Amino acid sequence: MKAEIISIGTELLMGYTVNTNTSVLSQKLLDMGIGVYFQQTVGDNENRLLEAIEIAANRSDLIIFTGGIGPTRDDITKFVIAKYFQTELVEDSDQWNKIQTYFSSQDRKLSETDFFQSLTFKNGTSFFNEVGLACGSAIYMTKDKHNQVIIVLPGPPFEMNHMFDHYAKPYIQSIFQKEDAIESSYLNFYGIGEAQVAKELDDLIIQQTNPTIALYAKPKQVTVRLTANAKTKHEAQQINQNLANDIINRIPSAFLGYGQDYLIEHHVIDLLIENNKSLSIAESLTGGLVLESLTNIEGVSKILKGGFVTYSNQAKIELLNIDPQIIEEKSVVSSQVAIAMAENCLEICHSDLALGFTGVAGPDELEGHPVGQVFIALAKKNEATTVIELNISDKPRSIVRLQSKNEGLNLIREYLK
Ligand code: ATP
Ligand code: MG
Repeated sequence: MKAEIISIGTELLMGYTVNTNTSVLSQKLLDMGIGVYFQQTVGDNENRLLEAIEIAANRSDLIIFTGGIGPTRDDITKFVIAKYFQTELVEDSDQWNKIQTYFSSQDRKLSETDFFQSLTFKNGTSFFNEVGLACGSAIYMTKDKHNQVIIVLPGPPFEMNHMFDHYAKPYIQSIFQKEDAIESSYLNFYGIGEAQVAKELDDLIIQQTNPTIALYAKPKQVTVRLTANAKTKHEAQQINQNLANDIINRIPSAFLGYGQDYLIEHHVIDLLIENNKSLSIAESLTGGLVLESLTNIEGVSKILKGGFVTYSNQAKIELLNIDPQIIEEKSVVSSQVAIAMAENCLEICHSDLALGFTGVAGPDELEGHPVGQVFIALAKKNEATTVIELNISDKPRSIVRLQSKNEGLNLIREYLK
């Protein structure tokens, strides 16, 4: 089965809005075992949208549209699709009620185009919008003895996501009923390059059939996706697990954990909880990135005490009690300052462990220190502090900061594992 995504919106063509919907939808479809073969992006223009539909209708079995179903005059998606497939649009009364209730609660007057948001394909299926005002819509037609499915979803990513998961996904599954179950499993490795993982798994990658193997590289991390086909979900999971065991055995020390979005911060938090250790953070060049990435994760309050963002020397001296003499003698970018930041933070926050970060994010060097020179210290209650130096040269500011964050967290991983 071939799937195609058509994103509608002139702002996408101008590059103002990054087309995240296409990427998210492609991944969701892939997880369902449906391959996206084509992606089109088109502006809010009837003739060009008709052209895009014509192309897709002649090559794809499942066509998903996103965007252009709101209340303004340039929201034309449903009208143009209905015109192309010669079908009518009718009112979804539940959606129309929701729109009316919303407007009266806001004391606002309805206009004709607000009603358009409740339109759906006649003889199709309407997807009620629980988190917005415009309903989605789907219809399927039989063409040359096989089904062609058209699905329209909202443009705002939050609405698109919600509607896909709750309505479009079950709808697609009910039509393209698959005999087989498809399951994916994600293995995450830290501190090893994509090429190295590929080399370790070379024979497996060459002979892959079921499961298939795909690699994704992230800063300092590689994710391996295994996707298996079987008669039942359980069987597919079992097939994945057998291969996963083999893969992990080949690179055991780099293995972080399972899960699609499993990052080193998840792993470190899990480790800290397991070991019953608390943490605090003193940041300079990362400007709160480490604290942000940790507090992004549920359950972190079990182990995180707090921290400091001390960007200037003065803040380091006043908030973290760093001895000005150390800064004077050793420079603010030094192992000594990283150590003092971590140790003082540990004391002030009463934590079992503390990280201290100082370095040069760039683009300019600082006090003779090159961009990418970073010192990270890990202080431990009743144990000697450890410190590392990174030299992340030729990388932009954002990567220097990200890698510093990851390498700092990795110090905790190395210590606790
Ligand atoms: P609205 O009711 O907001 O008009 P809509 O369904 O008509 O919703 P659009 O007008 O196309 O959708 O887009 C609304 C907003 O959603 C855009 O301004 C943009 O920020 C976001 N958006 C639309 N399409 C995409 C996309 N493919 N990827 C990411 N964001 C998108
Ligand atoms: Mg719109």
